[in-house]
Amino acid sequence: MHLKSLTLRGFKSFASATTLRFEPGITAVVGPNGSGKSNVVDAIAWVLGEQGAKALRGGKMEDVIFAGTAGRPPLGRAEVTLTIDNNDGALPIEFAEVSITRRMFREGSSEYEINGESARLLDIQELLSDSGIGREMHVIVGQGQLDAVLQARPEDRRGFIEEAAGVLKHRKRKEKALRK
Ligand code: ATP
Ligand code: MG
Repeated sequence: MHLKSLTLRGFKSFASATTLRFEPGITAVVGPNGSGKSNVVDAIAWVLGEQGAKALRGGKMEDVIFAGTAGRPPLGRAEVTLTIDNNDGALPIEFAEVSITRRMFREGSSEYEINGESARLLDIQELLSDSGIGREMHVIVGQGQLDAVLQARPEDRRGFIEEAAGVLKHRKRKEKALRK
């Protein structure tokens, strides 16, 4: 499984539709300060269901929508599509290629799609739950986060490791079952 492409439309500084294609292996995004490198990473977190404006470096959710520039009016919606190569069947879905789309309008509503079919955020979370990618997964390591891991209390550090190993989900399920 690897990320194949990312298309941004009206997301942050990407007013016009912009597609980035990724090959297996390491991709580096380079560019001057303020050119939108971090916005690309924000788009990946967002399309996977990120709900926190702060995690997306904004004050409110609407801040992900292109806010306009001197020469270009603001847009009414943001849309991001992430296409994942699933030839190895890592995602539990019968498609060799899986596209996840999120669309958000200024009034705040979000829509999701899996391969062009309307979906719920829950469907996306389920789809990704064993894959090691997705919301609340520490696969996006932000500035300062490495320090947080190094300085974490042992029990918190165990949490990071459990999450990476994919056992956190089972622990959460177990806790939920015990509470009933
Ligand atoms: P650095 O090298 O400093 O980390 P960067 O390449 O990571 O820079 P980003 O933080 O991705 O840059 O991009 C910041 C730019 O995105 C700023 O110019 C900011 O005005 C613009 N931007 C952020 N949100 C929006 C929005 N909603 N509408 C328009 N532009 C936006
Ligand atoms: Mg940056």
